[in-house]
Amino acid sequence: MDTVASAWELVKIYGKGEAEVHALDGVSVDFERGRFTAIMGPSGSGKSTLMHCMAALDKPTSGTVVVDGTDVSRLGDRALTKLRRDRVGFVFQAFNLVPTLTAAENITLPVDIAGRRVDRTWFDQVIGILGLGDRLGHKPSELSGGQQQRVACARALVSRPSIVFADEPTGNLDSRSAGEVLGFLRRSVDDFGQSVVMVTHDPSAAAYADRIVFLADGRVVDEMTEPTTERVLDRMKRFDGTPARHATDATHATRAIDDSRPASTGAGV
Ligand code: ADP
Repeated sequence: MDTVASAWELVKIYGKGEAEVHALDGVSVDFERGRFTAIMGPSGSGKSTLMHCMAALDKPTSGTVVVDGTDVSRLGDRALTKLRRDRVGFVFQAFNLVPTLTAAENITLPVDIAGRRVDRTWFDQVIGILGLGDRLGHKPSELSGGQQQRVACARALVSRPSIVFADEPTGNLDSRSAGEVLGFLRRSVDDFGQSVVMVTHDPSAAAYADRIVFLADGRVVDEMTEPTTERVLDRMKRFDGTPARHATDATHATRAIDDSRPASTGAGV
């Protein structure tokens, strides 16, 4: 397998002594290039911590993270900033757009900060697919949630990163907008060979992925390839312990165990 990012024996401990929490308890996982991987698991299982360590937004207590061939743990602050800027794209639940900038300015911000030229052909292609052509001059407050998240997707893709990390990207969206965003992430993988890793608690969102990695108590406990919503629901029931009679019940049960997620997860660019 052509691995774009991997974790080896990742441990993350928050707090000390009595208050110590092992958010990650020895996670080893590979993420394949050109594939869409979802990370699922009950609330508190370490999904966000894993993604933040993988995306070099947080430092593990021990273990190794390799992104696109670079051992992230060996990098100093400047090299880390460059890696995040040049090789990683982010999509967050809370969009994290800069309110004073237009959609177009938000999209090109990471490339502008890097002092690189925006590839206009690629920019136009991404904008076209996302249907944002007539919204480029709008500020985030003038856009719907779905449009804002599509702007955030364009921002993540425009620098052609090695990997895109998405943390609950549909958590704040209605089902139609969620479908558009997930469809775009899927297409970025199928049509452009993008590598995407997405944390989600929503079985129907996870069903867009090629593979699901399940976490529980800071460990990888299971995997699923070519998931369907039904199969994911069945698997999640085993975490929940309360068998659901209908698919919708199960969705609610799954949501209920994971509704403590914070709305925002850090830096936007
Ligand atoms: P998930 O994303 O699966 O809900 P998290 O990665 O957010 O799980 O959290 C894993 C565990 O680490 C939880 O027990 C959580 O309370 C704890 N945790 C996360 N962040 C912190 C922090 N900054 N300080 C202390 N404990 C934390």
